[in-house]
Amino acid sequence: MSKSNIILVVLGPQGSGKGTQAEMLAKKFNLTHIQTGNIFREKAEEDTPLGRKIDRLINKEGRLVPDEIVFQVWKEYVEKIPQGKGIILDGNPRTLEQAKFIDNFFKEKGREINKVFYIGISGEETIKRLSVRRVCKDCKKSLRLGIDVEESDKCPKCGGELFQREDDTPERIKVRLDTYKEVILPLVDYYKKQDKLVEINGEQPIEKVFEDIVGCIED
Ligand SMILES: [Zn+2]
Repeated sequence: MSKSNIILVVLGPQGSGKGTQAEMLAKKFNLTHIQTGNIFREKAEEDTPLGRKIDRLINKEGRLVPDEIVFQVWKEYVEKIPQGKGIILDGNPRTLEQAKFIDNFFKEKGREINKVFYIGISGEETIKRLSVRRVCKDCKKSLRLGIDVEESDKCPKCGGELFQREDDTPERIKVRLDTYKEVILPLVDYYKKQDKLVEINGEQPIEKVFEDIVGCIED
């Protein structure tokens, strides 16, 4: 596969490090990194009917954005990326419906997703990793207690207060993980059938996970 305009997807539960891997891949292969969360936050700040609607849904009502709006915003964003430029989709698609939509979108452009990496970690490891997570109140940067910062430290990036998210307790993490698995399984099957899925052991050090992924792209 040509590396200049490859399209990759990284999937994985919270704490799997998929965001970090996506960033590293974007840098190595000069890919446009697409995180739907960021696209929506950007869109919600726009003073347009759609921007106000998204702002109301995610910021005021705390609801999931319905698929039809996800498609509209996603499409608008991805359409601006030049044809010859590679793309990495980080955490999207999130549902089977979205996966089909994305496939059709690229098909119309004569392109397709080349590989889908599922970064797997056990439930125990997820809990272990998320329990030490601290988030900056100001810049929202996520840091690991005992690794990136110590208790009572401030954010190394902006000096903001660090806090533990209320839903980062073992019980709530378990519930989120179960929900995630239910949603992600059909998606994993879908890409397996297309022969695009690569399962990666996410419990290895970051560099080793990256090496495994890159190995699959370069051969
Ligand atoms: Zn900060």
